[in-house]
Amino acid sequence: MSLLLSLDVADRLVVVVGGGVVAARRVRGLLDSGADVTVVAPECGTDVAAQVSHGDVRWIDRKVRATDLDGAWLVIAATDDADINMQVAAWAADRRIWCVNSSDGFSTKARVAAVSRHGDLSIGVVSEGAPDPARVARVRDSLGALLDAGQVDMRRVRRRAGRVVLVGSGPGSVDLITVRGARLVAEADVVVTDRLGATGLLAALPEHVEVINVGKSPDNHPVPQHEINEILVDRARRGLTVVRLKGGDPFVFGRGGEEVHACAEAGIPVEVVPGVTSALAAPALAGIPPTHRQVSTSVVITSGHAGPEPTARAALGEGATLVVLMGVAALPAFVEAALEEGADPSTPVAIIESAATVRERVTRGSLADIVRIAGETAVKPPAVIVFGRVAAPAFLASALAATPPS
Ligand code: SAH
Repeated sequence: MSLLLSLDVADRLVVVVGGGVVAARRVRGLLDSGADVTVVAPECGTDVAAQVSHGDVRWIDRKVRATDLDGAWLVIAATDDADINMQVAAWAADRRIWCVNSSDGFSTKARVAAVSRHGDLSIGVVSEGAPDPARVARVRDSLGALLDAGQVDMRRVRRRAGRVVLVGSGPGSVDLITVRGARLVAEADVVVTDRLGATGLLAALPEHVEVINVGKSPDNHPVPQHEINEILVDRARRGLTVVRLKGGDPFVFGRGGEEVHACAEAGIPVEVVPGVTSALAAPALAGIPPTHRQVSTSVVITSGHAGPEPTARAALGEGATLVVLMGVAALPAFVEAALEEGADPSTPVAIIESAATVRERVTRGSLADIVRIAGETAVKPPAVIVFGRVAAPAFLASALAATPPS
């Protein structure tokens, strides 16, 4: 049985003998690890040649000699000539240098693991049997997918300094969070959540993960922002990894900036993982492209809370796309503003409620009738409202219908 090691090769000399496809792949992996790479080969393929011309690797352009190995920490024999590779391996053994012999997978003394990286964890898979790289890669990919999907408990066992991570969880469905976001949820000791976003992820958390819901709902008062900040700082000070799970993107009407400030002031390390914002995802899911060549080249995203501000009015007047979040109550004010700014009453308006959830519903109309229609259909938050020609019902309908669902 062999010993599986992780070598930090940063700035250490690694000699790669050969300049073809196999060598190129090895060189890439070595450069990713920060190694100091010398390639020895009379000729190089295009990939290695490009790395040489970029100055990323040194090239000795002749047949290999024993002394080329001097000073190396690791040698990769990757020529297409098995005899040369064996000779290089023998020279390396004389010098007590580990050597990966690419053409002698079965008896090589060192094997390179198939690796994937997941935050500060790496997976390495090696086979000790007859070489079968595709099989090893498949196992690595299957295990890596579990980690990326947040299906493996990656919480720290040994405490280190606490930290806060603002994770944008996307508009609602659990598969619209980013891979990095899902992984951080799997690392969290505490999850501080809202009502919106991919809250379905919470059900899968192990019992020992503390879940604190600070979201407002019709029958409870929202937790004031300063109290949320205090919760984040308090838990991080206890050495915990705190994920602040937010709907959409943390920095789009998410008060993420305030939370970052609060953590920074308290000296707590804070990180942000972007998310898919409902401002763009809700229209996309309804088949509305916020920009479309020759139809709308600008999109303004605003909040309904303050009513139609000058920028929103300008967008409505100019025929740019206007996306309004938190805008259900303010819909009549926006329609009025649009007409005041000279927009055509036939300008399309679409309202997307609860996008990316089972309750998703799209209501359409025009400036002339959307207030009445929204009243009749009892549109309610959370909803994204889109004003502009791109919101016309037929805009992409025919093209999307022609595309089979994925
Ligand atoms: N940071 C979030 C927005 C928070 S403000 C983001 O980037 O998406 C809350 C508002 O976002 C809601 O009032 C609604 O306008 C919108 N919203 C969030 N999730 C939504 C969803 N699934 N469907 C429709 N609108 C949504």
